[in-house]
Parts: sequence; structure tokens; C-alpha cells
Amino acid sequence: MNLKKSLKPIKKKLSNRDKPFIIIRQLYTHLSDLSNKEILDYYNVKNIKALEQHIEHIKKILKNQIENYKEELEEINGCFCMDSRGEFKYLYNRKKEATDQIEYSLKTKQLKLILYPCPYHCGWHLSRL
Ligand SMILES: [Zn+2]
Repeated sequence: MNLKKSLKPIKKKLSNRDKPFIIIRQLYTHLSDLSNKEILDYYNVKNIKALEQHIEHIKKILKNQIENYKEELEEINGCFCMDSRGEFKYLYNRKKEATDQIEYSLKTKQLKLILYPCPYHCGWHLSRL
């Protein structure tokens, strides 16, 4: 049996599987030392499929940014953070907005939220306790 040959398809599959992680490591130097698992944790996604969707979203945004550079520059109001259900998190540009929302949720839905800074330094996010 030719071992080299038989290993080839597996190798190819593996590298495709790792592609999203490789892209992330290349895009974000501060993530370049992270393991696959740590990258998933960082983006708060459960699996590689969710990470791929995430990358697609980033690509879309980057494409838009190039196409509408000026426009985008004026209103960068998004980031790539996701919640545990794989939805993009709402970004609060101002801390006051976020704290107002915490109050509102507590009052109307008895929902306790906590505030934390966006890891991309885009603004603020809320998370359920
Ligand atoms: Zn964020």
C-alpha cells in the first residue's frame, strides 16, 4: 500500500477543515497564537460551521467597506461578535444607551443583563447573567 497516497485525501480534508482558523489567524494577529478551540471560544461560536458563517459576514462587510468606503467610515456601527445562538450581537456605541437598555430590560422583562466592552473595541455589548 502506498501510504503517502492513501493519506492525501485525509490531509486535504483536514486543511479545508482548518481553513477558517487559518484565515482568522492571518486576519487578526492578536489571535495568531490561539488554538482552534480558543478561536471558537473567542468568537463565541460552537463549531466550525458557525465560524465559517462568521467569516462570510466579515468578508461581506469588508467588501462593503471597499465599495462604500466613505460611507462606511462615517458609520461603522457593527462588529463581528455573536451570541450563543449564533446571532450577531447588538452593538451599543454609547455606554449610556447600553445601561438604559439594562434598566429597561429589568423593568419590563425582569431580565438581568450585564454590560461588557466589545473585544473589538467597537462599543458595548449586553449579556444575560
Ligand atoms: Zn463586538
